[in-house]
Amino acid sequence: MTDDLTRLAAHELAARLRAGVMTSREITAAHLARARATDHGLHAWLTLDDERALAEADAADARLAAARGEGAGAVDALHPLLGIPIALKDLVSVAGGQATAGSRILVGYRAPFDAHVTERLRDAGAVILGKTNMDEFAMGSSTEHSAFGPTANPWDLERVPGGSSGGSAAAVAAYHVPLGIGTDTSGSIRQPAALCGIVGMKPTYGRVSRYGIVAFASSLDQIGPFGRDVRDAAALLHAVSGRDERDSTSAPVPVPHDLIDLPADDDEAASWLRGKRVGLPREYFVPGMESGVEARVREAVAVLETAGARVEEVSLPHTDYGLATYYIVAPAEASANLARYDGVRFGYSVRGGDDYLADYLATRGRGFGAEVKRRVMLGTYALSAGYYDAFYVKAQKTRTLIKRDFDRLWEAGFDTLVAPTSPSVAFPFGARMADPVQMYLSDACTLPVNIAGLPGISVPCGLSEGLPVGLQLIGAAWSEGELCRAARAYEGATASAAWRSILPHDLAALEDPSTPTPAERVAAGSAT
Ligand code: GLN
Repeated sequence: MTDDLTRLAAHELAARLRAGVMTSREITAAHLARARATDHGLHAWLTLDDERALAEADAADARLAAARGEGAGAVDALHPLLGIPIALKDLVSVAGGQATAGSRILVGYRAPFDAHVTERLRDAGAVILGKTNMDEFAMGSSTEHSAFGPTANPWDLERVPGGSSGGSAAAVAAYHVPLGIGTDTSGSIRQPAALCGIVGMKPTYGRVSRYGIVAFASSLDQIGPFGRDVRDAAALLHAVSGRDERDSTSAPVPVPHDLIDLPADDDEAASWLRGKRVGLPREYFVPGMESGVEARVREAVAVLETAGARVEEVSLPHTDYGLATYYIVAPAEASANLARYDGVRFGYSVRGGDDYLADYLATRGRGFGAEVKRRVMLGTYALSAGYYDAFYVKAQKTRTLIKRDFDRLWEAGFDTLVAPTSPSVAFPFGARMADPVQMYLSDACTLPVNIAGLPGISVPCGLSEGLPVGLQLIGAAWSEGELCRAARAYEGATASAAWRSILPHDLAALEDPSTPTPAERVAAGSAT
């Protein structure tokens, strides 16, 4: 039975909780048991906190019982996330717990307070199971840059889950948990969602407060949800959204009720597409895109048309400059944000050198991994006196041009844009580690959305060579309600597609305790 329960979506679990046929304690215990039993070969989790999770589950059950005593209205007023287990990327602060951001330099650090998203999840009554693996400081597209070893993809344990939020994505795809939190600076929610065959959304910049999140590139970072379907991801976004005084970039924009009111009925959901104008940006079919990925995305476009949408090819002419712009702006901001890791204030600290500077250099030299050092060097260089105008200012101007490309399409009346999420399916461990630019290209189709501050969602749209492909939908700023309706519409229109019944191929292998860990696979691979 345990297995059946972990296969349910969050909204299905919520319905059973309310009907009184299940408790949050049962739901939480089942997910903890599954995560403990099957994470060996996956390594999605850095911590699992059974005791705290079960206490939160009991508190949720008590809230539900109290609401029942008050009548149906009180039960209906409870948030759909009440009593539902969730995974947090290990850069979200939970008071008293670790927040390593995948880095050795934060080992030993304990968060003194809850992040805004943690508070919001507690208010909703969600149950935090633990913290998930990630690329160090969210720099990467494969989770191979974690200081704690890589995470595998439940579809093929020889392959990466994508990154940087690969742990949360893999945990959701492997049925350890129905919901997960990630962050997306240039694709780190959408790309792993695509590679793991789940739903992942990057909200509008300013939708979710970044208070209590370990910062990477502050003008690009956004927190967002993972779920196995659109309704679950939307409900999670609803729980964490909204203005927070402690993050001045969080916007006082109302949270759309649509996020917790998406149609349950597939046909009704699909009917939303009738008469909608959908743009297909030609620049997103980038050179080197796998033909199977392109084929699935074009089939998805045909589904939208059949459901009544008007799809037109459009152009976002500055797309090509996105990667260069991102790799100036993001490292520049990262070099400033990471200056605080000095061996005095946070976590890891090497002492005993001749002077403070020696200790500082040793702490950062040993505490940061290679990719982080590369970013700090790139960023410091781009911000240095003689190069600031040539690189940083130029990149900011290009950023405006990229944003205007999108603005023109919204002004022309497009409801949404559709594009591939990732140019490839999940790649094997090691395939992009030797060539940083190859790794950076993983985000070619997602990063313009961050540069322009827009919302984007990735939904599964079939398989190529047996591995999941993601369809990306992009909306105007603050249009998450409509964007989720569009994504739910595509989901509804393809509800009976044969590929939807195919589960991740390596779920059975994860149940076998002799399955090697991802780190063992990588070590074996590099030895041959
Ligand atoms: N691949 C991007 C990078 O390495 C991922 C950033 C992100 O979205 N966190 O910068």
